[in-house]
Amino acid sequence: MLEIRGLAAAINEKPILKGIDLTVPDGEVHAIMGPNGSGKSTLGYVLSGREDYAVTAGSATFNGIDLLDMEPEARAAAGLFLAFQAPIELPGVNNANFLRTALNAIRRSRGESELDAVQFLKLARAEAKRLAMPDDMLKRNVNVGFSGGEKKRNEVLQMALLRPKLAILDETDSGLDIDALKIVADGVNALRGPEFSALVITHHQRLLDHLVPNRVHVLLNGQIVRSGGPELAKELEKRGYGDLIAEAA
Ligand code: ADP
Ligand code: MG
Ligand code: MG
Repeated sequence: MLEIRGLAAAINEKPILKGIDLTVPDGEVHAIMGPNGSGKSTLGYVLSGREDYAVTAGSATFNGIDLLDMEPEARAAAGLFLAFQAPIELPGVNNANFLRTALNAIRRSRGESELDAVQFLKLARAEAKRLAMPDDMLKRNVNVGFSGGEKKRNEVLQMALLRPKLAILDETDSGLDIDALKIVADGVNALRGPEFSALVITHHQRLLDHLVPNRVHVLLNGQIVRSGGPELAKELEKRGYGDLIAEAA
């Protein structure tokens, strides 16, 4: 279970998160929506331990362990995974090698044996096939020359291989066509179970049709201003954020 209490964070001394309270029980998928610039990506970065973000108040624990005190690698070993809004390109780094290195680091931390190149490729090809990704994306350099949608799918492939306990997906649906959207949603749904939870940051109700969330939260100006069931996303799709912005002001 992820428990966030009074979390505040700043970047370059500019306060971005202003007291976030959020609980995501094991087995649940929660959606985070909200206008551009409200702090959604910042929340993901702070939880995954990205540098530059200063936590100024509050706490975030995962299964009782203080996340904010851990190095990013330790957070990953504890089962946390972040799919970036803007996946980075790594020229000269082979995608399959990159994914295998990431997976083997996690496997070592779990006390599992490492996979050799042949074992890994077998697994990766099977997962890539499920995500309708062509095999050659494994042979290419990480995200180099990938289309927006291919980059997002590569993030979901990484997630499928690492099998995190808590996944944060930051606008993984942006730039995807309708078919790819369903494939990404299916990729997340395939991981759903009592030991998996997810925070899904999205602007689109359409993703949530495939990936029905247990809860929907609206982040506005660094605070969660409304929480509800899946119907909240439908309401926002119809009415926009105007009412919530007016209420907050
Ligand atoms: P969202 O993901 O909800 O669109 P972000 O978390 O990316 O919002 O950004 C929240 C706010 O933080 C925005 O106002 C953005 O301009 C600001 N911000 C993000 N990164 C920096 C930075 N490096 N320096 C200054 N401000 C930043
Ligand atoms: Mg944004
Ligand atoms: Mg963002």
